[in-house]
Amino acid sequence: MLDTNGTLVLGKYLLSAELTRSEWGALAVAGIMAHEFGHIYQFQTEFGQRLTQSQPTSKLLELHADYLGGYHIGLKRLRDGEIDAEVFMESLYLKGDNDFTNRDHHGTPEERATAMLAGYKTGLTNNRSIHQVAEMGVTFVHNI
Ligand SMILES: [Zn+2]
Repeated sequence: MLDTNGTLVLGKYLLSAELTRSEWGALAVAGIMAHEFGHIYQFQTEFGQRLTQSQPTSKLLELHADYLGGYHIGLKRLRDGEIDAEVFMESLYLKGDNDFTNRDHHGTPEERATAMLAGYKTGLTNNRSIHQVAEMGVTFVHNI
């Protein structure tokens, strides 16, 4: 058994669909991976518990991961120059749902896109630690 701090699994259908949807499909995949790494970070810190305790659904946890995913893409935009961040935002929008009472509720399309965009803007400034960014994300998703 490998000694890891988390495992990220992406399905081939999801990968294929994202990669072929636009010329910036790889950016959406990078965003999705950043969302999943965000979950690993949440569960290795206090954020995971803070975002799930007393919550009927996983919405806050998921929107927070969208925020962190957006943050990553913002950093990438700073480093790599011109990218189309809307592709990731649209990808999250399409994965939003209106199953408000389902335990797996991830947030509405609008909420997911909004959380990603807020994280993205935070990434563009790149002057905070990941802990500070995650804290801003908690405040953001509680007020969404
Ligand atoms: Zn998630």
